[in-house]
Amino acid sequence: MRRLPVLVALIWVCSVFYVGIFLFVGGFLLVRLEVNRTSTCADVLSPGAQVKGDFCLSEPRFRRAVVLIIDALKADFTRYDPENTAPKPFENKLPVLDEMASSHPSHARLYTFRADPPTTTMQRIKGFTTGSLPTFIDVGNNFASNAILEDNLVHQLGQVGKRVVFMGDDTWVSLFPKKFHRSLPFPSFNVKDLHTVDNGILQNIYPTMEGDDWDVLIAHFLGVDHCGHRFGPDHPAMAEKLSQMDGVIRSVIKRLKNDTLLVVMGDHGMTDTGDHGGESQKETDAALFLYSSSPLFPAPGSQVEPEVVPQTDLVPTLALLLGVPIPYSSVGQVLLPLFPQNGSRGALTGLSQAEALWINVKQVNRFLETYSNMAKDIPPDSLSQLRADFSNISSQYLAAVHKGHLPSSELVVSMQNYLTAVRETCRASWARFSPFKMAAGLLILGVACVLCYVLSELSQVVIQEGLLKLPILSGLVV
Ligand SMILES: [Zn+2]
Repeated sequence: MRRLPVLVALIWVCSVFYVGIFLFVGGFLLVRLEVNRTSTCADVLSPGAQVKGDFCLSEPRFRRAVVLIIDALKADFTRYDPENTAPKPFENKLPVLDEMASSHPSHARLYTFRADPPTTTMQRIKGFTTGSLPTFIDVGNNFASNAILEDNLVHQLGQVGKRVVFMGDDTWVSLFPKKFHRSLPFPSFNVKDLHTVDNGILQNIYPTMEGDDWDVLIAHFLGVDHCGHRFGPDHPAMAEKLSQMDGVIRSVIKRLKNDTLLVVMGDHGMTDTGDHGGESQKETDAALFLYSSSPLFPAPGSQVEPEVVPQTDLVPTLALLLGVPIPYSSVGQVLLPLFPQNGSRGALTGLSQAEALWINVKQVNRFLETYSNMAKDIPPDSLSQLRADFSNISSQYLAAVHKGHLPSSELVVSMQNYLTAVRETCRASWARFSPFKMAAGLLILGVACVLCYVLSELSQVVIQEGLLKLPILSGLVV
């Protein structure tokens, strides 16, 4: 009859281990629940969007887009300082971005593009295609493969018949199996190899752009990231790589047509030793460059513009500029300078700022309602505040539309504030390491190990003397 106490003791030790692991995972391996729903064209409309007919069939602002991802393109690499007479290898080597942004302000912008941790490439690709805040463990993910099951831009573009052509880092092909119209993956596993992926892209990108067999072209370069891992940023090889990228961007710009948006971006930054993964600003701050050969941005100084763009914000912005619904789980916010203030730039320029924000607010609210029904990690207080904000915005917006008025600038600000609040709430739940939980988890795991050792050393004595109740009782008290 001594089996029962032994079993209870084992279960108790196991549960102490689980508590320790649970706490550690909660603090370090950020966890999030996935919502496997997809947005539809009909979702975008009701209620109250001022878009006639089918949203997905109306003329979008851009018919095509070229997205160049330069892995680990840190914000610092793209700043140009003409007064710097002795630049380091990673300084002043990519002047094209700053040059275009300052000499063609209505065509180009250069922003700091802030990623959320973890700053690892796979999580970042997931982040800037779904608009969410992917963690190390996304519960509900397909464990058998890396395929992204959450709603994402590649899926939405495919749904409306856009031909997405991919070339570069082969990680994408495992994330989006069978989703591309055409793909040219190159091996990414050898971090010492600075050229295979980039040269593969360079052999194919210009003929592809000149052909007509694509609508969205994604090219993911790896050389800068690999150079960081191998040599660090402060090395002549980095100067060579960045100068090569400068040339690539110039050649792509020359081939752009008026109906095409160019996006050049880094997925994350790097530390002074060329590493990344954590949450330091050197690792999170990449660059985002947007360019169109037709005028796109307001005159400088005429609107408040962000200096730092959160990485999540690219997803809703690209979705609405290309005329597809915002992916279901996105918590991003449309980048307002890319939308006309009151639709005054002609009928074909797509949505105004207020319309884009309203579509965005409805989509984020829809996601928040679905998510909070599935998971309980968003604090109830924040949730009820966000619900109240949404219903306020909703009644004000619909009242304005009903009366035929333009939504007021206060309402535009409220919509922005609502979207920022949702994103921050989600970020606090999913994308922040918790050193306290990590330490508590480690401590409990340590105690459990010691207990195991003591129990195994004393097993004979404990069982014979009937002392098993002691640790069990003390465990129950703890
Ligand atoms: Zn890397």
